[in-house]
Amino acid sequence: MDKKLLAILACPVCKGPLTYDRDAQELICRADGLAFPIRDGIPVMLESEARTLSTDERLKHD
Ligand SMILES: [Zn+2]
Repeated sequence: MDKKLLAILACPVCKGPLTYDRDAQELICRADGLAFPIRDGIPVMLESEARTLSTDERLKHD
């Protein structure tokens, strides 16, 4: 994914920065413990579409 695009994206919940998980194709908000999916290269920045991270995943992205 485009690094410039990532730089302008913020979490819709807390407005905080996101981490790109290349393997999972997700954008991670560590503050909220949410993972937003990237579908066909388009980040889906909807809380209703986000997945809650497991404890292990939170640690991995810490
Ligand atoms: Zn957030």
